[in-house]
Amino acid sequence: MAGSSEFLTVAERAVADLELRRKLENATGRHLNHVAETRAEFPRFDEERETARRIKEESIGRLDELLTALIDRLKANGCKVTVAADAAEAREYIVGLARRRGVRTVVKGKSMTTEEIELNPALTAAGIQPVETDLGEYIVQLRRESPSHIITPAIHLSREDIGRLFAENLGIAYTPEPERLTAAARERLRSIFLNAEMGVTGANFAIAETGTLVLVENEGNGRYSSTWPQTLVVLMGMEKVIPRLADLSHFLEILARTATGQKLTCYTNFIHGPRGADEIDGPEQVHVVILDNGRTRMLADPVLREALYCLRCGACLNVCPVYRRIGGHAYGVPYQGPIGSIVSPVLFGTRAAYLPFASTLCGACREICPVKIDIPRILLHQRWLESGGNHGASIRFPRSISRTRRALTRFARMARHPRRMRLLNRAMALLAWPLERDGYIRRMPGAFRHWTRTRDFRAPRSRR
Ligand code: SF4
Repeated sequence: MAGSSEFLTVAERAVADLELRRKLENATGRHLNHVAETRAEFPRFDEERETARRIKEESIGRLDELLTALIDRLKANGCKVTVAADAAEAREYIVGLARRRGVRTVVKGKSMTTEEIELNPALTAAGIQPVETDLGEYIVQLRRESPSHIITPAIHLSREDIGRLFAENLGIAYTPEPERLTAAARERLRSIFLNAEMGVTGANFAIAETGTLVLVENEGNGRYSSTWPQTLVVLMGMEKVIPRLADLSHFLEILARTATGQKLTCYTNFIHGPRGADEIDGPEQVHVVILDNGRTRMLADPVLREALYCLRCGACLNVCPVYRRIGGHAYGVPYQGPIGSIVSPVLFGTRAAYLPFASTLCGACREICPVKIDIPRILLHQRWLESGGNHGASIRFPRSISRTRRALTRFARMARHPRRMRLLNRAMALLAWPLERDGYIRRMPGAFRHWTRTRDFRAPRSRR
């Protein structure tokens, strides 16, 4: 997606797709109900949220020191560690390692960071087959699509869609039954797990004190990917580090409750290092790739750095009125919804520059966020930056938006003068008087008619 006009075109198409909207409404609505139920059953939720936020503040505030401690511990545990400045460096390291180790197949646990660095196309170009093993990721890979949600990659599909996909690709009889579809995917993936030479996963947390990488998941595929192949690569954003093992429980209390509406995910994997001499399973080598790719730039910005607290729980997508109408693919980048709109311009540059404007600033994302990230404030800050705040503007607005901006700029200038504002109010009240019924205007004229197509407009009042 090169800019605003492409985003608007794709978003308009998505809004007009009523079937897509129905699927998104169903899935996100179900999710929000589950989240509300599990949160209601857990009276300490807000307390844990506060604690988790404090730990994130501390972690990001001490990032340099904690990363140094983490790297030392990981090495002491027998891991090989590399810090990648950008996506290209991370890709080159992983592909180079796979080549040196004679890898033909890579099994992947769910990892949005691998989407961020576009690892799959790089592996494929090197003649190595990447296989997604999370069910949702496996489905979108079969469709040659990108995930449309950071937690639920196939949220845009119904079980009938998946039934047809499996019938075409896996040679099974068509069925829309989730149990049979899951069994078919499991059977296909099991033999791939047994033969893959390399596993690649992400990490939800990295504990500096012990050098432990923590991976939470529901399907067990992360555990298979991280224990079965001889070589394991863990790709993690540098913001995943937390100081102490004791901190972890606070995050586990809130993460699944907000991400999937569960008390806890089915699997919590702890990766310390390669297989020990007295252990019967686990990889021979563990490589940890710590990714920067713009994160230090976020860290340097006093407003943007709060985005580094994100746990990638996906809840802000489910509650966002924009995401719920256009889905993830319209965003054109791996991270969608409110969190995607604030981090993507930093991670992906001008192709995501318009995303901070794809928000109503309703504040629902801030309300649901388990670490209370003030997303609307960061969106406004990103809008300011992308419109030329401290460098040249990185986007060109469509004409209609440019006109609105010019009108608002003029209005802002006038609003600074109380006398002129009073006069304007009086003029507006006079003009509105013939259209007003019970304090509201039900149909506005001219360019304002779009507003009253779906809602009433409160009639202006002049103070006497
Ligand atoms: S910003 Fe908050 S709600 Fe959104 S994905 Fe991150 S942690 Fe979850």
